[in-house]
Amino acid sequence: MIVERETKPLCSSCRRREAVYRRLTSGEKLCRLCLFSATANQVRKAVHYYKMLKRGDSIIFILRPDKPLLSLQAFLIFHTAVRDMELKYSILCLKDVTNCELVEHIVKSHVKKSDIEIVSIPCRLDCIKTQTFIHMIKYCEALAIRVAMQRNMNAVIAPLFRDELSMIMLAGLLIVSKTAYSEGMPLKLVEGIKVARPFYYVFSVDVLYLTLTSPELREKESICEPHLNLYIVNERFDERLKSTFIRSPELMYSSIKGSQLLQSYILAGSKRCRICGAYSDKDVCEYCEALLPCLSQVELS
Ligand SMILES: [Zn+2]
Ligand SMILES: [Zn+2]
Repeated sequence: MIVERETKPLCSSCRRREAVYRRLTSGEKLCRLCLFSATANQVRKAVHYYKMLKRGDSIIFILRPDKPLLSLQAFLIFHTAVRDMELKYSILCLKDVTNCELVEHIVKSHVKKSDIEIVSIPCRLDCIKTQTFIHMIKYCEALAIRVAMQRNMNAVIAPLFRDELSMIMLAGLLIVSKTAYSEGMPLKLVEGIKVARPFYYVFSVDVLYLTLTSPELREKESICEPHLNLYIVNERFDERLKSTFIRSPELMYSSIKGSQLLQSYILAGSKRCRICGAYSDKDVCEYCEALLPCLSQVELS
């Protein structure tokens, strides 16, 4: 019996390798390499368009405790996207939640010319676990800002993706929180340090595919320890919105434009929270106020 081999379509970008992935946002059928380059190009575009970094800047990249492997894949994409900018890299790893030695081993063995420092610091697990997704992000960014200030770094890089930022922004409108709303933006300034979200255009699903098929990250599940169930508003809201974005990426991308148009109206007359740099009616926003006990007890080495 002759079994006919199924022929897979060729990648619509390089037209040489087999396509393995269909991008939800554009419908393109890509090979893994072209998907990686396409996301790196999106990162590059955001970095330049929003003037997130300058040549030679030193940065600290947050390894998110809720998604350490995805963050590590995001770091590999970011590192490729800005390789001509001669940045000095460090990675923030929360050692009570993430296996930082393993992170260091992966980074050092897969990034050429690796003078990347892994800054591993303790964190308070209860502070990460019991609050919302926005609290967790602000907590990590606050720790990173502290390290950056102590070591004279220029920028904090947070791997937050297009769908997450859109969800945060819509949640901000829904729960009427200027702070949550302004967290959906690509760049903020805290004490002279830039806090940037270079994955502003990147859909997390694309990076998830790259993570699951990554030769560098294969069988590295032991990096992540506790399972964190963090919601932006609540499980129902988050899941509904996420499935809406998957069915209609146009909505997710058009929310960038829509929210930029609304910005000046919603944020008029607001101050900036002195801890997280988000817009707020008070000196310290409602999220940072809740996080104050967490932040005061962290020792940086
Ligand atoms: Zn290709
Ligand atoms: Zn704040």
